[in-house]
Amino acid sequence: MINADRLWDRLMQLGSIGAQEAGGITRLSFTPEERAVKDRVAGFMKEAGLAVREDAAGNLIGRREGTNPQASVVLVGSHLDSVPNGGNFDGPLGVLSGVEALQTMNEQGIETEHPIEVIAFTDEEGARFGFGMIGSRGIAGLLRPEELEIRDEQGISIAEAMAASGLDPAHIGKAAREPGSVKAYIELHIEQGKVLESRNLAVGVASGVAGPLWLKFVLEGEAGHAGATPMSLRKDPLAAAAEIMLVIEREAAHQEITVGTVGKLQVFPGGVNIIPGRVEFTLDLRDVNIAIRDQVEQAILGEAEAICARRGVRLQVELLQRINPAVCSEDIQAAIRAACAAEGLETVTLPSGAGHDCMQLTGLCPVGMIFARSKDGISHNLAEYTSKEDCGRGAQVLYRTVLSLANGK
Ligand SMILES: [Zn+2]
Repeated sequence: MINADRLWDRLMQLGSIGAQEAGGITRLSFTPEERAVKDRVAGFMKEAGLAVREDAAGNLIGRREGTNPQASVVLVGSHLDSVPNGGNFDGPLGVLSGVEALQTMNEQGIETEHPIEVIAFTDEEGARFGFGMIGSRGIAGLLRPEELEIRDEQGISIAEAMAASGLDPAHIGKAAREPGSVKAYIELHIEQGKVLESRNLAVGVASGVAGPLWLKFVLEGEAGHAGATPMSLRKDPLAAAAEIMLVIEREAAHQEITVGTVGKLQVFPGGVNIIPGRVEFTLDLRDVNIAIRDQVEQAILGEAEAICARRGVRLQVELLQRINPAVCSEDIQAAIRAACAAEGLETVTLPSGAGHDCMQLTGLCPVGMIFARSKDGISHNLAEYTSKEDCGRGAQVLYRTVLSLANGK
């Protein structure tokens, strides 16, 4: 059994690093707060008997050797950075549970065939640069030199921030792992939703991580006097946009998992007595199944064109980003379910709507995720909470899953 008290104590210790007067925790990448949290966790890793290092992307790694020196490594981890005024569980739970799992193996004298590394990825959240998952992109060899030129609000680039914290951005490629050198990646994370709570379950198995497709719709009609233009003569792009939004809602709701959101809407020129001339809005469309997401996208675009044609409105759609969903490995899902069964824990399979580091790793190795119940589904907020018991249950399932993966199953 893992030690749930020790895990909880370490979690609470991290809660004081980057704590804000206004509430919550702020730990942005390459800052003194991030350095402090990494140093504290490096100390925990040493207490656990792990060999500690940091790679060229600033990822903090604690390694436990296996019995087979040629065997590929099992990676287990999460992140230690936060959003501004974020919570105490998003990220740290996964890193500290990994440390706890390996410390338990060492205390029990349990050997594994494969080596295991606990990893705390650099900047998962993207809160500082608007560009996240830096450490996992580094491990996967996906970081491009021009991406290191992305700047924060102070005008400091990722490369400059790396250099200021003692890393050499020119050597970022050294963080990339060799193909075949990683057997699996597994992460315990808070659910950040209400599914587990609503079903009264402590842990869940991720089927995948939904990939966001972001589109910008630009509709041009004819601005006119709200009093002097009869309804029959209008080419109102806002009315067309309203119809399209209802199509988005309906098409997403037809599917089991798809979510579609219009989060930004601009109306030009924007006067009480002016029929709008132009409207812009965004769409965030997500699913774990890319074929279904493509199908919903096509249905929305087809109907949007028909609506605009009927109303005499010009439609232009721009692609902002298209990120592929990550599909979790069936074998790892099975290993997690077996671990839950061994613990007497009923579980459920669910997709993640939020993004995670494993999205960057699917080209490198099979990936899997375990979710722990979130109170009221809240995250990225000081009210974020997972009980000590649920943290312990999640860590225990992680422990069993890692053991089975590291023994070749
Ligand atoms: Zn997270």
